[in-house]
Amino acid sequence: RSSAEKFEFQAEVSRLMDIIINSLYSNKDIFLRELISNASDALDKIRFLALTDKEVLGEGDNTKLEILIKLDKENKILSIRDRGIGMTKEDLIKNLGTIAKSGTSSFLEKMQTGGDLNLIGQFGVGFYSVYLVADYVEVISKHNDDKQYVWESKADGSFAVSEDVWNEPLGRGTEIRLHLRDEAQEYLDEFKLKELVRKYSEFINFPIRLWASKELDVEVPADEEESSEEETSETSSSEDEETEDEDAEKKPKTKTVKETTYEWEVLNDMKAVWLRNPKEVTDEEYTKFYHSIAKDFSDEKPLAWSHFTAEGDVEFKAVLFVPPKAPHDLYESYYNTKKSNLKLYVRRVFISDEFDELLPKYLNFLMGLVDSDTLPLNVSREMLQQHSSLKTIKKKLIRKALDMIRKIAEEDPDEFSDKDKKDVEKTDENDEKKGQYAKFWNEFGKSIKLGIVEDATNRNRLAKLLRFESTKSDGKLASLDQYISRMKPGQKDIFYITGTSKEQLEKSPFLERLTKKNYEVIYFTDPVDEYLMQYLMDYEDKKFQNVSKEGLKLGKDTKIKSLKESFKELTNWWKDTLASENVDSVKISDRLDKTPCVVVTSKYGWSANMERIMQSQTL
Ligand code: ADP
Ligand code: MG
Repeated sequence: RSSAEKFEFQAEVSRLMDIIINSLYSNKDIFLRELISNASDALDKIRFLALTDKEVLGEGDNTKLEILIKLDKENKILSIRDRGIGMTKEDLIKNLGTIAKSGTSSFLEKMQTGGDLNLIGQFGVGFYSVYLVADYVEVISKHNDDKQYVWESKADGSFAVSEDVWNEPLGRGTEIRLHLRDEAQEYLDEFKLKELVRKYSEFINFPIRLWASKELDVEVPADEEESSEEETSETSSSEDEETEDEDAEKKPKTKTVKETTYEWEVLNDMKAVWLRNPKEVTDEEYTKFYHSIAKDFSDEKPLAWSHFTAEGDVEFKAVLFVPPKAPHDLYESYYNTKKSNLKLYVRRVFISDEFDELLPKYLNFLMGLVDSDTLPLNVSREMLQQHSSLKTIKKKLIRKALDMIRKIAEEDPDEFSDKDKKDVEKTDENDEKKGQYAKFWNEFGKSIKLGIVEDATNRNRLAKLLRFESTKSDGKLASLDQYISRMKPGQKDIFYITGTSKEQLEKSPFLERLTKKNYEVIYFTDPVDEYLMQYLMDYEDKKFQNVSKEGLKLGKDTKIKSLKESFKELTNWWKDTLASENVDSVKISDRLDKTPCVVVTSKYGWSANMERIMQSQTL
C-alpha cells in the first residue's frame, strides 16, 4: 500500500520474530490462545471504561462484548475480531512494534538455548506468536478516539501503518487477519479450531463465536432440484416437524439433500469457576483454570489451591493457587516491584491485575482471583486502591493462603516420617501428594522467609512453614516442630549455625561439642537466613541461639570453674596481646571438643557469615 507509513521493529522485537519464524517448535497452536487472550484483555478494558461512562460502548452491535473467529478457506485467511477497546494509530505503532514489559531479553536468551515458547504469554510478547502460523499479518483496529487503521507486516524487520480505506468499518475493536503459511493450513479447519478454543480458552469470560458451517438435511422436490435458496432454508427450519409417513405418502416426490449453512456458534460456556460451588468443581477444572489465568500451559498441576467465599461486612469470592514453579522473575525484581498476581473483579467485572493492595509482597508468587461484591464499581482504580474493605480482604487472603500452604505439608506423606505424627493411609491420592511440600519449599521457601521478616502478625504461622537441614535431618528437610520434638531433656534453646553451605558447616569447630553431646543444630545457608534470624527471636517459647555467637549454654559443666582459674594467666596475656579493639574478651569455654580455640562473635553483633554477606554487597 503506497500510502502506508513504514516503521522498523525495535531490535528485540525483530530478534524475537526471527526466532519465532524460524522455530521448529511443534506446538504452533499457542498463537490462537494468545490472540484470544488479547481480545479478552481489550474487552475487559472497554467494559471497565463503560463502568464510569456508558457512552464508550456505543450502540447496536458495538455493545456486544464478544470475540468472533472466521475462516476464509479460499484466501487462506484466519481472522479473529473483538469489540474491545481497539487501538489508535499510536497504539498500533507502540504496542505492536516495541516491547513494554521487562524480561524480554531473558526470554530471548532462554529461547535461543531451547526455551519453551509455550511461556510466551508470560513475557508480554504473545502477539508475535502469530508468525508461527502466518507469513503476513494485518491488524485492523478502531479505537473510539481515532480513525480506523491497518497495521501490517510480513515479519521482515518492518511494519506499515495506514488509514483504513479498504475494509468494512469495525465500529470499534480489532480484527487480526492471519494469512496462513502453507504448512499451517490446518487452522482453516473448523473442527481443529473448536478443539483449540475448548482446550485453551475455556475460561475466557466473553463469548467466543466461530462462523461455523452446519450441514442440514433438507427435503427438496425430487424433480425440482434447482429450487431457489430461499425455499430450501425455509424447509430447514421446519425440519424437526417431520410428521410421519402420512405426509410422505402424500408427497412422494421429494428427496433429502445436504445443505451447508453458516452461523455463529459459541465455543465456550463462560462459566466463572469462582462463582461455582467448590464441591462441584473438579480437580481437572481447577488445573485448567489455573493454566488459563497464569498463562502457564506447561501441563503441570498447581501445587495447591484454595477456593472460598468470605462473608460478613466484606463479601468476596476468591480462588488462590500455588503454582508448580516460581515465575521467572519472582526474586529478580522483588525489591523493586509490588505487583501481585491476583486479578481483581468487582461483581464479575474485571478491574485490574496490577492491584498492589490485595496481598503482601512475600505472597506475590500466588496466582488467582478475587471477586468482591462489597467494593464499589463505578469509581476510579485509584479510589478503589484506597477503599477500606481492602484491608479486610487482604487479611483474609493471607490467612487462607497460609492455611493452603500448611495443608500441602499436612497432606504430604513425606512430612509424616516421624513416629509422633499422625498415621496416614497409603492411598493413590497420598502418593500424589508425596514430596509436594519439599517441592513447594524449593520453589518458594525464600518467600516464606521474607514473610517472616516482613509480616510480624503472621510470623509464628510462617515459622511453622519453615524447613531446613540440620545435623540430624539426614539430608531431608526438617521443621521447627520436628526440631522441638527431638530436643534433649533440659535443652532450652534452638541451636543454629549460618554459613555458605552445609558441607562447609559440617566441618565447623563450633559443632564439635554439640554433635558429640547429641544436640541438633540447624544449618542456615541462604544469605536471607541471616536477616530471617534477626526477626525470628523465638518459637514456642524457645529462644534461637547461633552457636558461633556468645551466650551458648550447654548445661552445667563442673570442671569449668577450676579450669578458668588455672588458665587465668593465659587468657589475660592473650587479651592484652590482641588489644581491646580486636576482641572483647578471651574465655575458657565448654563449646569445643578437639579444636583448641575459636573466634566467637558477640551476642548483639553480626555473625561472621553476616559480615561476609555485607562485605560481598559493598564490593
Ligand atoms: P500482552 O498481551 O502481554 O501485553 P501481547 O504481545 O500479547 O502482550 O500484546 C501486546 C499489546 O498489544 C497489548 O498489551 C495490547 O496493548 C495490544 N493489543 C494486542 N492485541 C490487542 C487487541 N485485540 N485489542 C487491543 N489491543 C491489543
Ligand atoms: Mg497478550
